Amino acid sequence: MEQLNGTCEDLTFNESIGYKKQEKGLATQSIHAGQKPENWMCRAIIPPIFTSVCYEQTIPRNMNDFFYTRLGNPTRSVLEECLAALDKAKYAVTFSSGVSAIMTVITTLKNGDGIIASKQFYSGTLDGLAIAERIGFDVQYIDFTDLKNLEDALKPNTKLIWTETCMNPTMQVMDIKAISDLVHTKSDAVVVVDNTFLTPYYCRPLELGADIALYSLTKYFSGHSDILGGSVTMNSDELYKTVRYGQGAFGTMLSPFDCYLVNRSVKTLALRMEKHSENSFKVAKFLESHPAVEQVNHPALKSHKGHEIAMKQFSGHSGVFSFYLKGNSHEKAIKFFKGLRFIPICTSLGGIETTLAYPREMSHPKFSDEDCFAMGVTYGLVRISVGIEECDDIINDLRDALDGIEKSGKNVEKIITKFERL
Ligand SMILES: *Cc1c(COP(=O)(O)O)cnc(C)c1O
Repeated sequence: MEQLNGTCEDLTFNESIGYKKQEKGLATQSIHAGQKPENWMCRAIIPPIFTSVCYEQTIPRNMNDFFYTRLGNPTRSVLEECLAALDKAKYAVTFSSGVSAIMTVITTLKNGDGIIASKQFYSGTLDGLAIAERIGFDVQYIDFTDLKNLEDALKPNTKLIWTETCMNPTMQVMDIKAISDLVHTKSDAVVVVDNTFLTPYYCRPLELGADIALYSLTKYFSGHSDILGGSVTMNSDELYKTVRYGQGAFGTMLSPFDCYLVNRSVKTLALRMEKHSENSFKVAKFLESHPAVEQVNHPALKSHKGHEIAMKQFSGHSGVFSFYLKGNSHEKAIKFFKGLRFIPICTSLGGIETTLAYPREMSHPKFSDEDCFAMGVTYGLVRISVGIEECDDIINDLRDALDGIEKSGKNVEKIITKFERL
């Protein structure tokens, strides 16, 4: 879609923190790209949901773009065109979940091909890689923060380099440009970046040199914690053909209803991301100042190891980050969680509501203490997904729960009337 340049004031909150200048027009693209009224005879401005599984062929094989919904559907095409535009990509392919996107990308390989990844990834990705290993792929796990490790690990059979923009749950920031440059000068491997935490609104991996940007649409794109979905975007015709073939062959596509819902949610992506970014920075600053907190892992904080790379790569950050409570103590962490009034404890992220997760017990229960501590997953580590509620309410809930860690007595326990203070 043609770039439209607005005349209103620039959004300056993120720039004032030091992030890369936000490109104009993304909010417009998220509402209009792919949504062409001329595609429908009735000129609906909101694309309809096409539930039909098949499409008429006037004589056998004489058909238009669509013939069977597993292989192509007009509602899915609308969403895919919009997602491709946001990443400034030639193609987008959507899936029934983030992990079905991951598995479909893995199936572009041949038996014996190598994948380089990290143990610090999202747990669903690690499950996918474990299966890849079991069925004969050569999976190597490295620490991406030192690029020497990547250079040493590259082998003639290496075909996929798997990374995350911000690694879960310690929020290490990957230098996507440096990784892509290194890989592309030394091998023909494909660089995949899981950009779920940032979305194209704040980071576009393909512009930084990656070959595939991968998303769990379940998180910020859908944004309301009520749809599962996944997507990949890319520019290479050949990669696109292979991924599209895999999507059809494995039946990992997103249903027309869910395409419609994600498409609807994407229209408010810009608004939501701006608010997530602002709230998450304010909450991070608050946590940094609280005596019960040891350290805050947020890319916008100068104390964060990946701060400089983040400022070069991102135009803002989402609501996801993590922090350490003082002391590597399970008991203190549980006391903190019990002191919360309205913030729920749950595994997902990227919704409009603030949520908290406890990685040691929720995403990393299979690992030993020793392995967890080496990955930074201590008993004090808490992951937060800051929502778009009134920021003072989020901070007040966290403050009371943190203050309660050092207090004793019944009054610090979560009160049954959870929403009493709101
Ligand atoms: C949630 C998530 C996934 C998996 O997505 P699902 O939609 O749950 O299958 C992959 N990567 C990251 C970073 C995620 O947060």
